[in-house]
Amino acid sequence: MRPDRKNTSLLIAALLISGLLAFGCNQTVQPASAGESQSTAGDASMDYEAKAKEELTPEQYNVCFLKGTEPPGSGEYDKHFEPGAYHCVVCDQQLFESETKYDSGSGWPAFYDSVDSDAVATEDDYSLGMHRIEVMCANCGSHLGHVFPDGPEPTGQRYCINSLALVFKPAAPSDKEPDTAAEADPADQD
Ligand SMILES: [Zn+2]
Repeated sequence: MRPDRKNTSLLIAALLISGLLAFGCNQTVQPASAGESQSTAGDASMDYEAKAKEELTPEQYNVCFLKGTEPPGSGEYDKHFEPGAYHCVVCDQQLFESETKYDSGSGWPAFYDSVDSDAVATEDDYSLGMHRIEVMCANCGSHLGHVFPDGPEPTGQRYCINSLALVFKPAAPSDKEPDTAAEADPADQD
């Protein structure tokens, strides 16, 4: 009788194990139903464009992603000369600063230099039957305007930029007086 019992319990154990294995297999075989979002994920510029479509005005979107041009004299930064920084309206990277801004008389904001050579990217543009150099944000690829070789010294460049592609951030007033905190410090204690 004893061997029989032993065999029975072995058989039960074997059945249990195979049952567990089968159950485990069934679990893993179930396909994870991946929805419809398989095609366009992973492209950074696509993310910026999707974000811009929600947050920008149609006029801003037309300039930044469809390479449109605002009417001359219409932009809010054309005659704007406050001290501060000009950032990309799409990704917020700083592109230009007020120190290099000047009035070109063209009707668009003009700068003779970018804040950093890495901040903007340029590309040949042969649209409208002429050759121009397109200027884009180097971070997100947003269209900014064009650069022409008729600017003032020291660069001789004229970055002709759409106001709609920019966000102005005024210089902080506290930057001008860094000494006030030092004066209040009682350092002389000898
Ligand atoms: Zn940008």
